[in-house]
Amino acid sequence: MDAPEILIVGSGPAGLTAAIYAGRAGISTVMYEQALFGGLAGTTACIDNYPGFSDGISGTDLTTQMYDQAIRFGTDFVNSRILRLWKEGDRVYARVGPERIEAACGIVATGSTPRRLGIPGEIELTGKGVSYCATCDAPLYGDRTVAVVGGGDSALQEALFAARFAARVILIHRRAQFRAAAVLAKDVRDNPKIVLALNKVATRINGETGVESISIDDTRTGTSETLPVDGVFVYVGFDPNVGMLGPEFKRSPSGFLVTDAKMETSVEGIFAAGDVREKTLRQVATAVGDGALAAMSAFAYLEGRRKSA
Ligand code: NAP
Repeated sequence: MDAPEILIVGSGPAGLTAAIYAGRAGISTVMYEQALFGGLAGTTACIDNYPGFSDGISGTDLTTQMYDQAIRFGTDFVNSRILRLWKEGDRVYARVGPERIEAACGIVATGSTPRRLGIPGEIELTGKGVSYCATCDAPLYGDRTVAVVGGGDSALQEALFAARFAARVILIHRRAQFRAAAVLAKDVRDNPKIVLALNKVATRINGETGVESISIDDTRTGTSETLPVDGVFVYVGFDPNVGMLGPEFKRSPSGFLVTDAKMETSVEGIFAAGDVREKTLRQVATAVGDGALAAMSAFAYLEGRRKSA
Protein backbone atom coordinates (compact mmCIF):
# COMPACT_ATOMS: atom_id res chain seq x y z
CA MET A 1 0.00 0.00 0.00
CA ASP A 2 1.33 3.47 -0.88
CA ALA A 3 1.89 5.79 2.08
CA PRO A 4 -1.32 7.78 2.70
CA GLU A 5 -1.27 11.55 2.59
CA ILE A 6 -3.04 11.91 5.93
CA LEU A 7 -2.74 9.68 8.96
CA ILE A 8 -5.58 10.22 11.46
CA VAL A 9 -5.23 8.79 14.95
CA GLY A 10 -8.50 8.24 16.77
CA SER A 11 -12.01 7.70 15.44
CA GLY A 12 -14.31 9.74 17.65
CA PRO A 13 -16.42 12.48 16.06
CA ALA A 14 -13.33 14.70 15.53
CA GLY A 15 -11.31 12.03 13.72
CA LEU A 16 -14.28 10.77 11.71
CA THR A 17 -15.20 14.28 10.59
CA ALA A 18 -11.59 14.93 9.58
CA ALA A 19 -11.71 11.71 7.54
CA ILE A 20 -14.96 12.74 5.82
CA TYR A 21 -13.55 16.14 4.86
CA ALA A 22 -10.19 14.72 3.78
CA GLY A 23 -11.89 12.02 1.70
CA ARG A 24 -14.16 14.53 -0.02
CA ALA A 25 -11.11 16.66 -0.81
CA GLY A 26 -9.61 13.63 -2.58
CA ILE A 27 -6.79 13.10 -0.08
CA SER A 28 -5.78 9.51 0.62
CA THR A 29 -6.47 8.93 4.31
CA VAL A 30 -5.79 6.17 6.78
CA MET A 31 -7.38 6.16 10.24
CA TYR A 32 -5.98 4.18 13.15
CA GLU A 33 -8.16 3.25 16.11
CA GLN A 34 -7.20 1.00 19.00
CA ALA A 35 -10.77 0.19 20.07
CA LEU A 36 -14.19 0.47 18.49
CA PHE A 37 -14.80 3.55 16.33
CA GLY A 38 -16.86 6.33 17.90
CA GLY A 39 -14.75 7.35 20.90
CA LEU A 40 -16.43 8.45 24.13
CA ALA A 41 -19.40 9.83 22.18
CA GLY A 42 -20.02 6.38 20.75
CA THR A 43 -20.68 5.06 24.25
CA THR A 44 -23.21 7.75 25.18
CA ALA A 45 -26.76 6.49 25.56
CA CYS A 46 -28.46 9.54 24.12
CA ILE A 47 -26.88 12.61 22.52
CA ASP A 48 -29.59 15.21 22.87
CA ASN A 49 -27.70 18.35 21.95
CA TYR A 50 -26.18 17.52 18.57
CA PRO A 51 -28.01 19.64 16.02
CA GLY A 52 -30.20 17.88 13.49
CA PHE A 53 -31.70 15.17 15.69
CA SER A 54 -34.78 16.66 17.31
CA ASP A 55 -35.48 13.53 19.36
CA GLY A 56 -31.82 12.95 20.26
CA ILE A 57 -29.72 10.12 18.86
CA SER A 58 -27.74 7.34 20.48
CA GLY A 59 -23.97 7.75 20.40
CA THR A 60 -23.66 4.46 18.56
CA ASP A 61 -26.11 5.49 15.85
CA LEU A 62 -24.53 8.91 15.36
CA THR A 63 -20.95 7.66 15.18
CA THR A 64 -21.94 4.70 12.97
CA GLN A 65 -23.37 7.19 10.48
CA MET A 66 -20.13 9.21 10.66
CA TYR A 67 -18.03 6.07 10.25
CA ASP A 68 -20.04 4.86 7.22
CA GLN A 69 -19.70 8.32 5.69
CA ALA A 70 -15.92 8.32 6.22
CA ILE A 71 -15.63 4.87 4.62
CA ARG A 72 -17.82 5.96 1.69
CA PHE A 73 -15.35 8.76 0.99
CA GLY A 74 -12.46 6.30 0.88
CA THR A 75 -10.92 6.25 4.37
CA ASP A 76 -8.87 3.14 5.16
CA PHE A 77 -9.76 2.10 8.71
CA VAL A 78 -7.14 0.11 10.64
CA ASN A 79 -7.94 -1.35 14.04
CA SER A 80 -4.50 -1.05 15.67
CA ARG A 81 -2.87 1.01 18.36
CA ILE A 82 -0.37 3.70 17.49
CA LEU A 83 2.41 3.57 20.06
CA ARG A 84 4.35 6.63 18.93
CA LEU A 85 3.84 9.45 16.44
CA TRP A 86 6.61 11.79 15.31
CA LYS A 87 7.95 13.90 12.46
CA GLU A 88 11.27 13.33 10.77
CA GLY A 89 12.33 15.61 7.92
CA ASP A 90 9.09 16.46 6.18
CA ARG A 91 7.42 13.08 6.80
CA VAL A 92 5.21 11.88 9.63
CA TYR A 93 5.92 8.45 11.12
CA ALA A 94 4.05 6.20 13.53
CA ARG A 95 5.02 3.04 15.34
CA VAL A 96 2.38 0.29 15.21
CA GLY A 97 3.68 -2.78 17.03
CA PRO A 98 7.00 -3.64 15.35
CA GLU A 99 5.97 -1.78 12.17
CA ARG A 100 6.72 1.81 11.17
CA ILE A 101 4.19 3.55 8.93
CA GLU A 102 4.49 6.94 7.27
CA ALA A 103 2.34 9.70 5.85
CA ALA A 104 2.71 13.24 4.57
CA CYS A 105 0.86 14.76 7.53
CA GLY A 106 -1.08 13.73 10.62
CA ILE A 107 -4.18 14.55 12.65
CA VAL A 108 -4.27 13.59 16.34
CA ALA A 109 -7.87 13.04 17.46
CA THR A 110 -7.27 10.73 20.39
CA GLY A 111 -9.64 12.40 22.85
CA SER A 112 -9.38 12.38 26.61
CA THR A 113 -10.21 9.93 29.33
CA PRO A 114 -12.35 10.96 32.31
CA ARG A 115 -10.50 10.33 35.54
CA ARG A 116 -12.14 7.69 37.69
CA LEU A 117 -12.68 7.96 41.40
CA GLY A 118 -11.42 4.42 41.81
CA ILE A 119 -14.02 3.41 44.41
CA PRO A 120 -16.12 0.24 44.67
CA GLY A 121 -19.27 0.29 42.57
CA GLU A 122 -17.97 2.91 40.13
CA ILE A 123 -17.04 0.64 37.24
CA GLU A 124 -19.86 -1.85 37.90
CA LEU A 125 -22.52 0.91 37.74
CA THR A 126 -21.05 2.93 34.87
CA GLY A 127 -23.86 3.33 32.36
CA LYS A 128 -26.34 2.28 35.05
CA GLY A 129 -26.43 5.58 36.90
CA VAL A 130 -22.73 6.44 37.07
CA SER A 131 -21.89 8.84 34.27
CA TYR A 132 -19.02 11.09 33.23
CA CYS A 133 -21.21 13.36 31.10
CA ALA A 134 -23.96 15.34 32.83
CA THR A 135 -24.56 17.30 29.65
CA CYS A 136 -25.52 14.00 28.01
CA ASP A 137 -27.32 12.20 30.81
CA ALA A 138 -28.63 14.74 33.37
CA PRO A 139 -31.92 15.26 31.48
CA LEU A 140 -32.74 11.63 32.32
CA TYR A 141 -32.97 12.57 36.03
CA GLY A 142 -36.03 14.84 36.01
CA ASP A 143 -37.31 15.31 39.58
CA ARG A 144 -34.80 12.85 41.03
CA THR A 145 -31.68 13.21 43.20
CA VAL A 146 -28.18 13.05 41.77
CA ALA A 147 -24.68 13.49 43.19
CA VAL A 148 -21.90 15.33 41.38
CA VAL A 149 -18.36 14.63 42.58
CA GLY A 150 -15.59 17.22 42.12
CA GLY A 151 -14.83 20.87 42.79
CA GLY A 152 -13.43 22.16 39.49
CA ASP A 153 -15.08 24.13 36.69
CA SER A 154 -16.46 20.95 35.12
CA ALA A 155 -18.11 19.68 38.31
CA LEU A 156 -19.72 23.00 39.15
CA GLN A 157 -20.79 23.74 35.61
CA GLU A 158 -22.35 20.29 35.29
CA ALA A 159 -23.95 20.50 38.76
CA LEU A 160 -25.68 23.69 37.60
CA PHE A 161 -26.74 21.93 34.42
CA ALA A 162 -28.03 18.89 36.34
CA ALA A 163 -30.01 21.21 38.66
CA ARG A 164 -32.10 22.27 35.68
CA PHE A 165 -33.60 18.78 35.65
CA ALA A 166 -33.06 17.03 38.98
CA ALA A 167 -35.05 17.84 42.10
CA ARG A 168 -31.84 17.86 44.14
CA VAL A 169 -28.13 17.85 43.30
CA ILE A 170 -25.67 16.93 46.02
CA LEU A 171 -22.25 18.36 45.19
CA ILE A 172 -19.56 16.29 46.91
CA HIS A 173 -16.12 17.90 47.12
CA ARG A 174 -13.11 16.85 49.12
CA ARG A 175 -12.23 20.37 50.31
CA ALA A 176 -14.15 23.44 51.56
CA GLN A 177 -12.83 25.66 48.74
CA PHE A 178 -13.67 25.11 45.11
CA ARG A 179 -11.01 25.01 42.45
CA ALA A 180 -13.67 26.33 40.04
CA ALA A 181 -14.05 29.96 38.99
CA ALA A 182 -15.61 32.21 41.65
CA VAL A 183 -18.56 33.02 39.44
CA LEU A 184 -19.47 29.34 39.17
CA ALA A 185 -19.01 28.86 42.92
CA LYS A 186 -21.41 31.76 43.56
CA ASP A 187 -24.00 30.39 41.14
CA VAL A 188 -23.78 26.97 42.82
CA ARG A 189 -24.12 28.42 46.33
CA ASP A 190 -27.09 30.52 45.19
CA ASN A 191 -28.89 27.59 43.56
CA PRO A 192 -31.62 26.32 45.91
CA LYS A 193 -31.55 22.84 44.33
CA ILE A 194 -27.84 22.28 45.02
CA VAL A 195 -26.82 20.93 48.41
CA LEU A 196 -23.11 21.15 49.27
CA ALA A 197 -21.31 18.21 50.85
CA LEU A 198 -17.89 19.77 51.47
CA ASN A 199 -14.86 18.14 53.04
CA LYS A 200 -16.35 14.83 51.97
CA VAL A 201 -14.87 12.02 49.92
CA ALA A 202 -16.94 9.42 48.13
CA THR A 203 -15.96 5.94 49.25
CA ARG A 204 -18.49 3.64 47.55
CA ILE A 205 -21.36 3.76 45.06
CA ASN A 206 -24.10 1.34 45.98
CA GLY A 207 -26.79 -0.44 43.96
CA GLU A 208 -27.61 -3.72 42.29
CA THR A 209 -28.93 -2.95 38.81
CA GLY A 210 -28.70 0.83 39.13
CA VAL A 211 -27.34 3.49 41.48
CA GLU A 212 -29.21 3.58 44.80
CA SER A 213 -26.88 5.54 47.08
CA ILE A 214 -23.40 6.92 47.59
CA SER A 215 -21.30 6.51 50.73
CA ILE A 216 -19.12 9.41 51.85
CA ASP A 217 -16.59 10.09 54.61
CA ASP A 218 -16.03 13.45 56.30
CA THR A 219 -12.33 14.31 55.86
CA ARG A 220 -12.18 16.17 59.22
CA THR A 221 -14.19 13.95 61.54
CA GLY A 222 -13.85 10.60 59.75
CA THR A 223 -17.59 9.96 60.13
CA SER A 224 -19.37 8.11 57.33
CA GLU A 225 -22.85 8.41 55.91
CA THR A 226 -24.78 6.98 52.97
CA LEU A 227 -26.91 9.31 50.86
CA PRO A 228 -29.74 7.95 48.69
CA VAL A 229 -29.18 9.12 45.08
CA ASP A 230 -30.41 7.97 41.66
CA GLY A 231 -27.32 8.95 39.70
CA VAL A 232 -23.69 9.94 40.21
CA PHE A 233 -21.77 12.26 37.90
CA VAL A 234 -18.02 12.07 38.31
CA TYR A 235 -16.02 15.19 37.42
CA VAL A 236 -12.58 14.81 38.93
CA GLY A 237 -10.71 15.88 35.80
CA PHE A 238 -9.87 14.51 32.37
CA ASP A 239 -6.57 13.21 31.10
CA PRO A 240 -5.71 13.84 27.44
CA ASN A 241 -4.66 10.78 25.47
CA VAL A 242 -1.23 12.03 24.45
CA GLY A 243 0.99 9.18 25.59
CA MET A 244 2.14 8.54 22.02
CA LEU A 245 3.57 12.05 21.59
CA GLY A 246 6.98 13.40 22.58
CA PRO A 247 7.83 16.71 24.28
CA GLU A 248 8.09 18.52 20.94
CA PHE A 249 4.27 18.74 21.05
CA LYS A 250 3.37 21.79 23.13
CA ARG A 251 0.88 21.11 25.92
CA SER A 252 -1.20 23.35 28.19
CA PRO A 253 -0.54 23.23 31.96
CA SER A 254 -3.23 20.54 32.22
CA GLY A 255 -1.53 18.46 29.52
CA PHE A 256 -3.85 19.08 26.55
CA LEU A 257 -2.41 19.79 23.08
CA VAL A 258 -2.02 23.43 22.20
CA THR A 259 -2.98 24.28 18.61
CA ASP A 260 -3.31 27.46 16.61
CA ALA A 261 -6.58 28.54 14.99
CA LYS A 262 -5.88 26.15 12.08
CA MET A 263 -5.67 23.24 14.55
CA GLU A 264 -1.93 22.85 13.89
CA THR A 265 0.15 21.65 16.83
CA SER A 266 3.63 22.95 17.60
CA VAL A 267 4.89 20.34 15.09
CA GLU A 268 4.33 21.61 11.56
CA GLY A 269 2.14 19.27 9.52
CA ILE A 270 0.64 17.54 12.55
CA PHE A 271 -2.79 18.80 13.54
CA ALA A 272 -5.03 18.05 16.51
CA ALA A 273 -8.83 17.97 16.81
CA GLY A 274 -11.45 17.28 19.46
CA ASP A 275 -11.12 16.65 23.17
CA VAL A 276 -7.34 16.15 23.09
CA ARG A 277 -6.97 19.89 22.32
CA GLU A 278 -6.81 22.62 24.92
CA LYS A 279 -10.29 24.21 24.62
CA THR A 280 -13.20 25.34 26.75
CA LEU A 281 -16.08 23.16 25.52
CA ARG A 282 -15.63 19.47 24.89
CA GLN A 283 -18.72 18.34 23.00
CA VAL A 284 -19.52 16.44 19.78
CA ALA A 285 -20.57 19.75 18.18
CA THR A 286 -17.16 21.32 18.81
CA ALA A 287 -15.26 18.12 17.94
CA VAL A 288 -16.75 17.94 14.45
CA GLY A 289 -15.84 21.61 13.87
CA ASP A 290 -12.26 20.90 14.92
CA GLY A 291 -12.12 17.83 12.67
CA ALA A 292 -13.36 19.70 9.59
CA LEU A 293 -10.89 22.52 10.19
CA ALA A 294 -7.96 20.15 10.83
CA ALA A 295 -8.64 18.29 7.55
CA MET A 296 -8.89 21.48 5.53
CA SER A 297 -5.72 22.83 7.15
CA ALA A 298 -3.97 19.55 6.33
CA PHE A 299 -5.18 19.92 2.75
CA ALA A 300 -3.73 23.45 2.57
CA TYR A 301 -0.46 22.19 4.08
CA LEU A 302 -0.19 19.43 1.44
CA GLU A 303 -1.00 21.90 -1.36
CA GLY A 304 1.69 24.26 -0.08
CA ARG A 305 4.25 21.46 -0.08
CA ARG A 306 3.27 20.38 -3.61
CA LYS A 307 3.70 23.94 -4.90
CA SER A 308 7.09 24.35 -3.25
CA ALA A 309 8.35 20.92 -4.44
P1 NAP B 1 -9.93 20.12 37.44
O1 NAP B 1 -9.91 21.60 37.32
O2 NAP B 1 -8.67 19.37 37.44
O3 NAP B 1 -10.75 19.79 38.77
C1 NAP B 1 -10.87 18.50 39.23
C2 NAP B 1 -11.62 18.54 40.55
O4 NAP B 1 -11.79 17.20 41.00
C3 NAP B 1 -10.88 19.31 41.64
O5 NAP B 1 -11.79 20.04 42.42
C4 NAP B 1 -10.26 18.19 42.48
O6 NAP B 1 -10.19 18.49 43.86
C5 NAP B 1 -11.24 17.07 42.31
N1 NAP B 1 -10.60 15.77 42.39
C6 NAP B 1 -9.55 15.31 41.69
N2 NAP B 1 -9.28 14.03 42.01
C7 NAP B 1 -10.19 13.69 42.94
C8 NAP B 1 -10.45 12.50 43.67
N3 NAP B 1 -9.71 11.41 43.48
N4 NAP B 1 -11.46 12.50 44.56
C9 NAP B 1 -12.22 13.59 44.73
N5 NAP B 1 -12.04 14.74 44.08
C10 NAP B 1 -11.03 14.78 43.19
O7 NAP B 1 -10.81 19.43 36.26
P2 NAP B 1 -12.04 20.01 35.45
O8 NAP B 1 -13.01 20.66 36.35
O9 NAP B 1 -12.50 18.90 34.57
O10 NAP B 1 -11.39 21.14 34.54
C11 NAP B 1 -10.34 20.79 33.65
C12 NAP B 1 -9.88 22.05 32.90
O11 NAP B 1 -10.92 22.50 32.02
C13 NAP B 1 -9.59 23.21 33.86
O12 NAP B 1 -8.53 23.93 33.35
C14 NAP B 1 -10.85 24.02 33.81
O13 NAP B 1 -10.64 25.38 34.12
C15 NAP B 1 -11.29 23.83 32.36
N6 NAP B 1 -12.73 23.99 32.23
C16 NAP B 1 -13.20 25.25 32.00
C17 NAP B 1 -14.54 25.46 31.93
C18 NAP B 1 -15.05 26.83 31.67
O14 NAP B 1 -14.25 27.71 31.46
N7 NAP B 1 -16.34 27.06 31.69
C19 NAP B 1 -15.43 24.39 32.09
C20 NAP B 1 -14.92 23.14 32.35
C21 NAP B 1 -13.56 22.96 32.44
P3 NAP B 1 -9.15 19.57 44.44
O15 NAP B 1 -9.71 20.89 44.07
O16 NAP B 1 -9.15 19.30 45.90
O17 NAP B 1 -7.83 19.26 43.80
